[in-house]
Amino acid sequence: MKCDVCFRRCDIDEGRPGFCGSRINENGIIKADNYGRLTAIALDPIEKKPLKRFHPGSAILSVGSYGCNLRCPFCQNSDISWSDYALSCKDQTRYCSPEDLVRLALNYRKQGNIGLAFTYNEPLIGYEYVRDTAKLAHEAGLVNVMVTNGTADLAVLKELQPHIDAMNIDLKGFTDRYYRDVLKGSRKMVMDFIEEAVKSCHVELTTLIVPGENDTEDEIRELSLWVSQLENGKDIPLHLTRFFPRFHMQDRNATDIALVYRLADVARENLRYVYTGNC
Ligand code: SF4
Repeated sequence: MKCDVCFRRCDIDEGRPGFCGSRINENGIIKADNYGRLTAIALDPIEKKPLKRFHPGSAILSVGSYGCNLRCPFCQNSDISWSDYALSCKDQTRYCSPEDLVRLALNYRKQGNIGLAFTYNEPLIGYEYVRDTAKLAHEAGLVNVMVTNGTADLAVLKELQPHIDAMNIDLKGFTDRYYRDVLKGSRKMVMDFIEEAVKSCHVELTTLIVPGENDTEDEIRELSLWVSQLENGKDIPLHLTRFFPRFHMQDRNATDIALVYRLADVARENLRYVYTGNC
């Protein structure tokens, strides 16, 4: 059976998981095996997502599951994304139904919580849980945020759009080489996803500046120009963040802070709101 959630189009044998470790073939049906299986839950400042221009100063109950459809070698959440442990950690998770999660989010209201953020691992590979929970959250008067790599078919986005109020989407670089060879992803799928997402909700973008991969002025100029040409593109916030050696990418130093600031100035040639992170 084929999974059509992302560009990989995994052909999954009965009882087996796909590449992301989160979707399985069960009795001839492809389903999210990580549905409601939480690995992390925390009340975070919304700026940590990062979202700078969506309910600033508020807090949001943030949850994650396990698995990922990319293979970023510098992943900061490898314990729940694509390490050996992450891809076999289902038994270590705890099940939380959509109803229970919304109840929990409402309980946190007195601590400033405005809703739910689906984050930490890649939420799109378990989009059914996001959809079902976010729908209930809206009915309860909460808002919904998704932090994502944007690597999913537009049909998946369409199912989520009525329920999601804001997204932070990674636009990790602006070359096919980097997406294909380093991240094992698809730049085109992410660009198509962003182009549609900005039409229905508040979107902020994040680019991690990795030395030697995506750190030239030309690349950031091209990236920011493309963003500026989207719907209301000049007002889309862009976060340029500093890389630190992590996980399988320990062969280079952290990004030079002065470089991050210089690239932010380049992006400001095209965009109104450019933020630097981890500097
Ligand atoms: S979502 Fe997972 S199972 Fe589906 S195509 Fe992508 S990697 Fe494969």
